[in-house]
Amino acid sequence: MTASSEVAVDLREVRRHYRTPSGDVHAVDGVDLQVRAGRALAIMGPSGGGKSTLIALIGALEKPTSGTVTVLGTDLGALSDEQRATWRRGNVGFVFQAYDLLPFLTAHENVALQAALAGVGATARDDAEELLRRLGLDGHVDKLPDQLSGGQKQRVGIARSLIGRPRLVLADEPTGGLDSATSAAVVRALLDEVHRLGATAIVVTHDPRVAEQFDERIDLRDGRLAGPAAVPA
Ligand code: ADP
Repeated sequence: MTASSEVAVDLREVRRHYRTPSGDVHAVDGVDLQVRAGRALAIMGPSGGGKSTLIALIGALEKPTSGTVTVLGTDLGALSDEQRATWRRGNVGFVFQAYDLLPFLTAHENVALQAALAGVGATARDDAEELLRRLGLDGHVDKLPDQLSGGQKQRVGIARSLIGRPRLVLADEPTGGLDSATSAAVVRALLDEVHRLGATAIVVTHDPRVAEQFDERIDLRDGRLAGPAAVPA
């Protein structure tokens, strides 16, 4: 099998139900999904449709109630909590909406710290700087988060997620707080870098301008795939 035809994410009949005082919630309700390695998938759909839960299942943050979640060749349901945490650290870069940067460290230091935590600290200083530059932050690497715009902060957040060279990048509404043009530019930078790494990306977004940049789009509603998401030309 060549790398391009390899399946990075393989979901079979996946369900995630939550028991609540007002009854069972079927957050994800029978999803079959395959994403090939190196592809970029956008998950769209209405609020409450199950997008965050699906991302959490693929990133081993949640366990399925039933069905199998196989990611990068590993059946995540077969792992203990500790094994899942180790697997996550070694394979997944999460991009969060709340940039989550340490306010007393510069952009560069935020990324270098993450590199050290990810165990790639040796060449971190140069790598972090180069990555930030490629993400469009030339001239901003020594600024504190407070001195950066929302879009720039999210570019630092992206650099932090990618410095460990993850094979899978997951993001849940990574540009939620940004205007549409800025969102599209930030996600373009993210996808260019993901492509450079040869990684697979799965990103939740409700913004058509963001979604149109992806190789594939799906529409998730009521926990089920409602077919490919329509993106206006
Ligand atoms: P989306 O990301 O598309 O907005 P979510 O995956 O966050 O959707 O939520 C899907 C459904 O599952 C919603 O009805 C939500 O209230 C419910 N849900 C999500 N997480 C939990 C939880 N931990 N406990 C109970 N219900 C949950």
